[in-house]
Amino acid sequence: MSATGSVEFRRESLAVEILDPRRGFRPAVSTLEIRQDPLTGLTARLIAPSGLLPRSDFDLAALAQQTAPTCPFCSSRIDEHVPRFPRTLIAEGRVRVGEAVLFPNLLPYSQYSAVSVYSPERHYLPLAEMTPALVSDNLATHVSFCRQAVLADPDARWASINANHMLPSGSSVFHPHLQGGVNPRPTNMQRLLAGVPPDRYEAYLESERRAGERFLGEIGDTVWVTAFAPLGFAEIRAFLPGVASPAELSPGQVTDLGTGVAAVLNFYADLGFESFNMAVYGAPPHTPGYPLNLRLVCRSNLQPLYRSDTAWLDKLHWEPTSDVSPEELAERARGRF
Ligand SMILES: [Zn+2]
Repeated sequence: MSATGSVEFRRESLAVEILDPRRGFRPAVSTLEIRQDPLTGLTARLIAPSGLLPRSDFDLAALAQQTAPTCPFCSSRIDEHVPRFPRTLIAEGRVRVGEAVLFPNLLPYSQYSAVSVYSPERHYLPLAEMTPALVSDNLATHVSFCRQAVLADPDARWASINANHMLPSGSSVFHPHLQGGVNPRPTNMQRLLAGVPPDRYEAYLESERRAGERFLGEIGDTVWVTAFAPLGFAEIRAFLPGVASPAELSPGQVTDLGTGVAAVLNFYADLGFESFNMAVYGAPPHTPGYPLNLRLVCRSNLQPLYRSDTAWLDKLHWEPTSDVSPEELAERARGRF
């Protein structure tokens, strides 16, 4: 970081020459870029656009029809099929806001592990039909859950709100839902993000605002950008300065966040995608200078024998790779925030 309060967007371009069989073995040069995230220092690779994450004409409505008759999250089954929290944690056993319902995960990934459906009535909910109200109400169930978990167990201070949406993202249940975790320990990414000095977050957001090429806009207190060094395809990030944990979100801030997430999901639908991951990374409540922040990435589309978008670079080198330019992505997404 420089003395003027800006961060450096480090990028290195590599030129690679091959003798190309598609052109009679004449020399051909491709370029790729290695970029460094100004916050975490993690590097990522951007390769030339090559259709690594293809659109698909998969019939999502047909899969919805096929999976609905046995779905545990649908309104006719949810009351009997999903667990309840012990009364010492959540007095009512489950959390309801608007159409959304939150309940414990049968298979816990966290000390306090929750699943929440946007609505038991909406087994089929394509990304184009996500609305600010559906997303905000679903996020609000997690805010309530996080608050009650922290109250019941002051050691469980690391909260996150996440999504696996459709099979390629890791979801095992078709019915659209979010997942939350509250833990006594951070995940690796929570630890990394919480270790970033507060003035670097300020400088980063200021630098993105000034540069403009990845800046998408603001909704209330939330700031939206495309990731400079993305962790996945078509990554969009948001930051909410002044709030460290989901447990601290006001109703207005939940609406701002939900409005932005719905805009991203509608945008993903326009790009031709139906599967995504999301993480809202909380730090312990009242952590000074930490801005609550989230990342959203597209995943491979549903289709038989699809190609995974996670390969050796991502999985085993922790070097995320994509062929979507953050600057071109921002150009297409701007105007929605
Ligand atoms: Zn269902």
